[in-house]
Amino acid sequence: PVNLRNLVVGVDMKVPLSNGAFVKAINFDNAATTPPFSSVIQEIIDFSPWYSSIHRGTGYKSQFSSSLYEKSREIVGKFVKSDPKRDTVIFVKNTTEAINKLSYRLCEDHKKCVVLSTCMEHHSNDLPWRNKYQVDYIALDENGRLCLKDLEHKLKKYDGSTALVTITGASNVTGYKNPIHKIATLVHKYHAKILVDGAQLVPHVPVNMKPWGSLEHIDYLVFSAHKMYAPFGTGVLIGPKTTFEKGDPDYVGGGTVDMVTHDYIRWSAPPHKEEAGSPNIIGVVALATAIKTLNYIDMKYVEAYENNLTSYALQRLSNIPDIELYGDKEHYGDRVSIIPFNIKGIPHHMVATILSYEGGIAVRNGCFCAQPYIQNLLHIPLDEVKKRIDDPTADHPGMVRISFGLYNTYSEIDTFTNFIKRIIRYKKFYLEKYKNIDPPK
Ligand code: PMP
Repeated sequence: PVNLRNLVVGVDMKVPLSNGAFVKAINFDNAATTPPFSSVIQEIIDFSPWYSSIHRGTGYKSQFSSSLYEKSREIVGKFVKSDPKRDTVIFVKNTTEAINKLSYRLCEDHKKCVVLSTCMEHHSNDLPWRNKYQVDYIALDENGRLCLKDLEHKLKKYDGSTALVTITGASNVTGYKNPIHKIATLVHKYHAKILVDGAQLVPHVPVNMKPWGSLEHIDYLVFSAHKMYAPFGTGVLIGPKTTFEKGDPDYVGGGTVDMVTHDYIRWSAPPHKEEAGSPNIIGVVALATAIKTLNYIDMKYVEAYENNLTSYALQRLSNIPDIELYGDKEHYGDRVSIIPFNIKGIPHHMVATILSYEGGIAVRNGCFCAQPYIQNLLHIPLDEVKKRIDDPTADHPGMVRISFGLYNTYSEIDTFTNFIKRIIRYKKFYLEKYKNIDPPK
């Protein structure tokens, strides 16, 4: 077996506590961003003397860079089993940019098309659709999981005008996985298309877009390199070439055209048409290297290991009185490695601060760019939400989130849960010590 911890940089780093002592840092904030693989850093170092502008010259370095960049595109497409004949793999900045791009390129007659989003989306898979399309939201069940009956109801209601159903593959709040292929089958029966926001799915489980022509296939998939052991600045949008062959690109400029006169433009074929300007070549090569390392580990192994870590953490946390866990209490398992919680009587921002300053444990707190989902899970009615917006003294709803990467360990979970017990035992002390910590804005 591979020692996964050795594959990632900085995992044994020490950080200072509030008393000046140093402890080994624990990073339980992998849903935000993962540290890079050492193979990725090495590749960046090795490639640096060689990189050059791509598709722009006949110099040796340019040719080498172009071929590495295009090879990386192939590696990325293969990783999620996209169809090389049908699909194009477009490199962008991140998941957010990928979704924004698709929102401009999906249909030319925006206002006439319906997009069904869900009540559990990251803002990045909600806001880009608003004001361009008619948007409706698929409801959740009482556990915060997607309600497939409501999806079918809405597909029937808008039959013929739904252009797209856009859902997260896994929630960045609860980690809940959506049955993407089951949903795709339903969506295709109603002649609509499906976009899967894979930001929280692709780093954790094997993803298969499935062959075009099968009802289960995924039409569009987006994800970010910085959540899968490569640096910031590279995102991926995969979808049918036909979507991008028609119309003008959202961004125009160098690299997007085959021929230009002052009154004529012939766009290049996708993906080049959609990648205006000099692309992030190093970032793309870094992502392909991260994927090679994930392939070497095997995504099935990553999935199994992270499932075990998550079940272990859930079991330990659910035995602690005063811990509030959210959502589905019976099927904890059906999620990626994300667990949101609160400690009764201590605001979430204070818990996160104490974990960091007193334990060297990094977590995230707040609403995780998914405010409607948090409001739903915390059962905050809409009029109450609106009242709080105008009241600067109001409580800020939110949760603490832990999220594991493939390099985290059971012993880190033990350290974390013991620390949580200590916070609860010395609640009064910590509440006093951290009373002046600013709540989130
Ligand atoms: N969707 C989900 C589910 C996410 O978790 C995130 C990142 N938190 C995004 C979209 C946006 O990703 P990025 O910031 O890389 O654009």
